[in-house]
Amino acid sequence: AIIFTDLHKSYGELEVLRGVSGTIRTGEVVAVIGSSGCGKSTLLRCFNRLETINGGQLIVNNIDLSRPNLKTHQLRELRSQVGMVFQQFNLFPHLSVVENLMLAPQKVQNKSRRESLQLAHHYLEKVGLSQKANAYPEQLSGGQKQRVAIARSLCMSPKILLFDEPTSALDPELVGEVLMVMKQLAEEGMTMVVVTHEMQFAREVAHRVIFLNQGLVEEQGNARQVLTNPQSDRLRAFLSRMN
Ligand code: ATP
Ligand code: MG
Repeated sequence: AIIFTDLHKSYGELEVLRGVSGTIRTGEVVAVIGSSGCGKSTLLRCFNRLETINGGQLIVNNIDLSRPNLKTHQLRELRSQVGMVFQQFNLFPHLSVVENLMLAPQKVQNKSRRESLQLAHHYLEKVGLSQKANAYPEQLSGGQKQRVAIARSLCMSPKILLFDEPTSALDPELVGEVLMVMKQLAEEGMTMVVVTHEMQFAREVAHRVIFLNQGLVEEQGNARQVLTNPQSDRLRAFLSRMN
């Protein structure tokens, strides 16, 4: 679970998160929506400590990220437990697909080559890309690259997966295959926080939605309720721009 209370984050003078509170429960899928620049990526990046917070409380899987000096072993534990999938895939271009998948289990979790290879093949099959094990990233479509990136995260056996606009860089016809994989993970009970502009996905797959506006939670709640019957004028306006 992720529990955050009155979270503050600034970059210099710019206050990006201005007191954000909420909970991501185990097994829950939460969509984070909002206009460009409202702080969605920043919030997500706080959850796996790509950013340190300036105030408030943040507890991720019982690891207290509110304290400024986190111990090295706690950061390692956090990074093993919380996977992140980016818009731009971030695959290593000089490594084959299977080598991309084997890297972190070997380096971060000290798994053997053999075990890492087994994991890699298992998760490649899960995302439907067994036949691409020995391809290089440049030989893949955007949708395939993103499925590889998801498989790579899964190889670390994360408890939580964070997605930052995972389909925004894709051609429209490739969006569906990535959303399918994410939907499958959701159905298997993975805890997921998804920053997305895909309102249909949010409606169908997310349990809850958090709508951020200028660094504050403007509205949050049950996904269907929030998306079909928004209470705030800002959310109503946002949703009508999206459709
Ligand atoms: P988008 O939908 O465009 O991805 P977002 O909601 O993800 O937007 P953030 O990336 O969280 O927004 O950025 C929130 C604000 O913080 C923006 O004004 C952005 O310019 C600023 N910002 C983000 N990262 C940094 C940084 N490393 N240094 C300074 N300012 C930053
Ligand atoms: Mg962003």
